[in-house]
Amino acid sequence: MTFEELGLEPNTLKAIAEMGYTTPTPIQEQAIGLIQMGRDVMGIAQTGTGKTASYTLPMIDILSNGRARARMPRSLILAPTRELAAQVSENFEQYGKYHKLSMALLIGGESFGDQERALDRGVDVLIATPGRMMDLFGRGRILLSDVKVLVIDEADRMLDMGFIPDVEKILGWLPPLRQTLLFSATMAPEIKRLADKFLSNPKLVSVAPPASPAELVTQGIVVVEARAKRDALRGLLKSQDVANAFIFCNRKRDVAVVYRSLERHGFSAGQLHGDMPQSMRTETLDAFRKGDIKMLVCSDVAARGLDIADVSHVFNFDVPSHAEDYVHRIGRTGRAGREGCAFTIATPEDGRYVAAIQKLIGRDIPLIHLDGTETLPLKDGDVAPSGRNRGGRGRSPKAKTKPEVRNEPKTETGIEAPVKSQTEAETKPEITVAPAAKAEPRARTERSPSPRSAERETSGRRNGRKGRTPQPADEIEEMQHGDNVLAFGDHTPSFLLRDPFAK
Ligand code: AMP
Repeated sequence: MTFEELGLEPNTLKAIAEMGYTTPTPIQEQAIGLIQMGRDVMGIAQTGTGKTASYTLPMIDILSNGRARARMPRSLILAPTRELAAQVSENFEQYGKYHKLSMALLIGGESFGDQERALDRGVDVLIATPGRMMDLFGRGRILLSDVKVLVIDEADRMLDMGFIPDVEKILGWLPPLRQTLLFSATMAPEIKRLADKFLSNPKLVSVAPPASPAELVTQGIVVVEARAKRDALRGLLKSQDVANAFIFCNRKRDVAVVYRSLERHGFSAGQLHGDMPQSMRTETLDAFRKGDIKMLVCSDVAARGLDIADVSHVFNFDVPSHAEDYVHRIGRTGRAGREGCAFTIATPEDGRYVAAIQKLIGRDIPLIHLDGTETLPLKDGDVAPSGRNRGGRGRSPKAKTKPEVRNEPKTETGIEAPVKSQTEAETKPEITVAPAAKAEPRARTERSPSPRSAERETSGRRNGRKGRTPQPADEIEEMQHGDNVLAFGDHTPSFLLRDPFAK
């Protein structure tokens, strides 16, 4: 089946073609037609199946007729996290680029003022997290009586996060005559109850989970000092039969650093980051698609929305500080039934982030070590309080990672990986580690990122363009730079902040 056969508008088709999508995914094949017909839909589909486009594409067509009135959105999308909400709005921007739909994103971390001004002008699409929606409605700033289409995305996560009572309240404010689309990865009894209560004669569409990382992607993690990360990356690249690879960095500027390092060492590499002009971005992507460039160093933002099906490897040069980014990153390999490999380079300080990832994916990432290298332990720590991890708003439990060096058999990836029994994996997540590889010669341009600053960068992006308001604890922090640091960089030493005249 093609997108044309689904009967989408020419302008929507044009935007889809520009995204590089050639065929609809199974959820899109099933859901788009039903949504166009105005049916309520209960979609059982996980992230990675193309579920977001399965509702945004027909919604764009539906909403392209008609006009929004001030403070009365014509459609409402509820998403459990601001990251998902932001992703949905990106989808609307990308697929709706040839339509004139207006949109507002109502999420924490953005100023109420901007969002309210957008609403005052009238929006076709309002994307919100339940909490923010409750706030705004409670203050009488919005009317929901004109909402014709409601989407509840990732309902199972809303359930995990305790948002269902809020969602039910919001549903009570909507007009009964509307189209409702409910998406969830699972049909938990509570989700079924919600569907029975709020959907009218819904059509159930269900697709298999996307190639789960556990099944198709061989994962591994090495732990080295920050200054040895580039060395570790080269070690990994050489140990692998890499057809092509995405190499993810947490920070934009490290994309350039890693890219230059790879080039200097003779690897076929390109880079992709948010500041590149579109023409250069397109050129780089074409070269990567054609195989002229084998490795693409990129940031999460730059890689978002890229659709390249055949990628043999993903390397995380940094452990993402938001566990879900890990899933998105490694989901770039092992696509369409193919096998893939995803390797992560961690520093000992990344313990809590690794623990958060393992918690999210529900399994240990095997520790690997590169030949002839010393292993380092990951430090224990609290799971990142990002609020994005499955399990809720609060702080997650302490990481249980426990360093251990073992004799490990070879895996088919050519890297040594520990073999864990089921019991071990369940009870004692172990992070064995990797090469205390020789650091590269010091270079002015090559500064390894500190985990804290990497977190800062990601948080800034996640919290919207304006970035996160710095917390006192962020402003004065322990220096964690490698010994190749040449300046203070982002760090302000505490003695500079102290008032010399204070008693
Ligand atoms: P989602 O399940 O909505 O999180 O989508 C997962 C990824 O699939 C996103 O990166 C989309 O850009 C991509 N995607 C969505 N639809 C298609 C399609 N028809 N062909 C290829 N990639 C797609």
